[in-house]
Amino acid sequence: MSPDRYSALALPQPQSPAEERELLRAFLGGLEKLFRRQDNWTFLRPLLITVEHCVRCQTCSEACHIFTGSGRQEIYRPTYRSEILRRLYFKYIQHRRWQGAVELDWSTVATLAELAYRCNLCRRCAQACPMGADNGLVAHELRKLFSQEMGIAPKELHAAGSLVQLRTGSSTGMNPAAARDNFDFIDQEMTEKTGIPVKTPWDVEGADVLLIHNAGEVLSWPENPGAFAVMLTAAGVSWTLSSDLTAYDAVNYGLWYDDVQFARVALRQIEAARKLKVKRIVIGECGHAHKALTVVADRLLPSDLNLPRESSMTLMRDLVLSGRLPVDPARNAFPVTLHDPCNMARLMGIAEPQREVLRAVCPDIREMSPNRTDNYCCGGGSGFALMSGKTFLDWRLEIAGAKKMEQVLGAFAACMDPSIPKYICAPCSNCKAQFRDLLARRGLWKSNRIFYGGLAELVVNAMRDAKPGFLEWEWR
Ligand code: SF4
Ligand code: SF4
Repeated sequence: MSPDRYSALALPQPQSPAEERELLRAFLGGLEKLFRRQDNWTFLRPLLITVEHCVRCQTCSEACHIFTGSGRQEIYRPTYRSEILRRLYFKYIQHRRWQGAVELDWSTVATLAELAYRCNLCRRCAQACPMGADNGLVAHELRKLFSQEMGIAPKELHAAGSLVQLRTGSSTGMNPAAARDNFDFIDQEMTEKTGIPVKTPWDVEGADVLLIHNAGEVLSWPENPGAFAVMLTAAGVSWTLSSDLTAYDAVNYGLWYDDVQFARVALRQIEAARKLKVKRIVIGECGHAHKALTVVADRLLPSDLNLPRESSMTLMRDLVLSGRLPVDPARNAFPVTLHDPCNMARLMGIAEPQREVLRAVCPDIREMSPNRTDNYCCGGGSGFALMSGKTFLDWRLEIAGAKKMEQVLGAFAACMDPSIPKYICAPCSNCKAQFRDLLARRGLWKSNRIFYGGLAELVVNAMRDAKPGFLEWEWR
């Protein structure tokens, strides 16, 4: 049973009582594993805090953009799915009687599966909770249970995502030869556009930096990896890409739904860096890849794989503020607002380096409110920006994305005149996909000239050594 008229999953429909019993048996087996240390040593402690210590104060509800964006529908309360899980936990794991009624039938389980995909995993609710409970983690753990124990996961993340990445090298299906071809093409474009001769280096042993982009950029927003190539070339950085499978794609969708798939991808990415003996990995403009390759990889992978890793935000900050990339902010003379990807800002605390870059290259910055670690998710987080099946696109644009559009329109309120181009700087591939769809749905792209893009493009557009006019508005 779907909890509302939207749907993200192709759920099994039991055709007989025996089939239903089998599905429930698998679910309960997974539930036990979630609460067993040897099966869930990664996330058991915060999960227990969440199910055992919530005092039902509902402080978290007003922090959640999905709950408020839905007009405060009960099913979107951060605690709604957690309360079902909590009752199941007390009844079937703790065997306590008095914690509230819950019926374990397929309808309940199917509702939980869908509700696990009505949360962006942005953890804004967790930040607000006085007890340290994390309702985003509950959604994550439910996704994990359904994927690892029951084979239930959105096709965009699993069959067409992680599995494709492990098989071909990239979630886009781009194999290493195709990736190199695409970068050759990008290099030519960048050389022509900027006047700076660019040749992306591959598999350079001992390079200072192994740069890993979200490969979706290469196909959808090639100017972003192109801008990185221009910056690193012009600044004389020793850098390389890797052509090993999965190591030229920072994507790791397992972060959102399956620890096993997560570990398979992360392991290959780190091993590629070890093989090349690079000094550090730098993660491109991709929020979930930041979290995947740093804080979560640290939890899931053995410590001997603990290589230095850095955000591209700090690398750009160092290149610009040190003067290695001389810039002229007058070249970016248009209003710019900055979106803080949840994984970078709230989950990792990376909020200032990108602002230091912006202040150096843009004269007209208009902050959203709230921002930094209090920022709202774009509504495309946790894989939603990739998911459009059935009616899900409507849900992510009308409900999950409502708060973000309100923030953007608030930031640009004084410059909505369509003669003024405006730029949403979103240093994250998934956030950009959500902005693309949000702006198109509301017609703001054409009617009000609100565009979106990454941070690297703004830097290159301001570089004194590059030909002017790198940013082309028609790209958006
Ligand atoms: S804020 Fe924390 S304690 Fe209060 S209802 Fe939400 S999860 Fe429970
Ligand atoms: S993690 Fe984000 S989307 Fe999910 S319940 Fe919490 S605030 Fe809402």
